[in-house]
Amino acid sequence: MNAQDIIVPQADLGAVYRAQKEEIDAAVARVLASGWYILGQEGAAFEGEYAAWLSAGQGAPAMQAVGCANGTDAIALILRGLGIGPGCAVATVSHTAVATVAAIEMVGATPVLIDIDPRTFCMDMDELKAVLAAPPPGLPPIRAVIPVHIYGHPCDLDAILETCRKAGVAVIEDCAQAHGARLGGRMIGTIGDAAAFSLYPTKNLGALGDAGITATSDAALAKRMGAIRQYGWHTRYISDEPGVNSRLDEMQAAILRVRLTVLDANNARRQAIAAAYDEALANAPYAAPYRAPGTEHVFHQYVLRVPEREAVMARLRAQGVATAIHYPVPVHEQGAYAGRIAMGPAGCAETSRAATEVMSLPVFPEMTEGQLDKVCAALRSL
Ligand SMILES: *Cc1c(COP(=O)(O)O)cnc(C)c1O
Repeated sequence: MNAQDIIVPQADLGAVYRAQKEEIDAAVARVLASGWYILGQEGAAFEGEYAAWLSAGQGAPAMQAVGCANGTDAIALILRGLGIGPGCAVATVSHTAVATVAAIEMVGATPVLIDIDPRTFCMDMDELKAVLAAPPPGLPPIRAVIPVHIYGHPCDLDAILETCRKAGVAVIEDCAQAHGARLGGRMIGTIGDAAAFSLYPTKNLGALGDAGITATSDAALAKRMGAIRQYGWHTRYISDEPGVNSRLDEMQAAILRVRLTVLDANNARRQAIAAAYDEALANAPYAAPYRAPGTEHVFHQYVLRVPEREAVMARLRAQGVATAIHYPVPVHEQGAYAGRIAMGPAGCAETSRAATEVMSLPVFPEMTEGQLDKVCAALRSL
């Protein structure tokens, strides 16, 4: 193939399957033959392996993990497990997948959206402090804060925790884009009160279908979430409290056990791709993504700020490089939410500006050297 013909997609899910085809096929065959398809041995094994992987992180407590149907449900399950629902407010960011805000409303709680730090794209600490000190009028009491480790960059969790502890507010980490990211050497997802992970196919750890998982070091919370995800059953057919149906199926769990074995290597490959892009952009008018001191970014996305975004996307596209926008319209500007969602005192101006400038380059662990060279050459030409 001629180098000119190489097209670099922004993500490549077929490559995920091809990279581990034999093991994935064997895992699926094992489940099909077992005669047990939902909440069985594979799910329990995956939960145990994922919890052990998190717990092996520096300074991490012993974690427990509870699987569920998707990342949105993982957030909702934690909120329900903590008793957060109607009459409670939950603070998060508008610069996120709409899922974060949807999960808050799913449990009947009221979201309040905080602006972002323009460098990290994560929750702005001053705004969080301001909102906790003086919540918008009419808002129910804020019971939890959901920082989002957006693009794979850890939020300033130490500052968030200190502020939230003082206010008696729970911290739920949205780790949907940050499996394996670290803050001061500590594993993201083990620092707050609980963490939600999406296992959607494109995520750093992805199933080949829908899946999600929660993690916490609080054994009572884990037990409660394990009941709530299946009709509130503490014993089969007996509901001690109202629950939902959000189960992890055996097929996805078996596939995820295979995918987990390459997560660390895949994150390292994402970081190597990011380092190559950094170098290729050395003389470009666009700064490489900021990494706050002490953070280890896992590059779910490699995001540039490009004010003349349309033109640059077209130039890259002409050179065979696909890009994407995460996200083109912030939550507070979307039809479903605009005008009815509370915000911090300064509004969400940085979030709105980011939405007009952000552009995500291709990042996926299965990217070939030829594809990587192609993107780097295109970046050097900017
Ligand atoms: C993907 C994602 C979710 C939701 O996950 P689903 O598995 O799609 O429900 C939540 N938050 C963030 C930040 C995400 O990127």
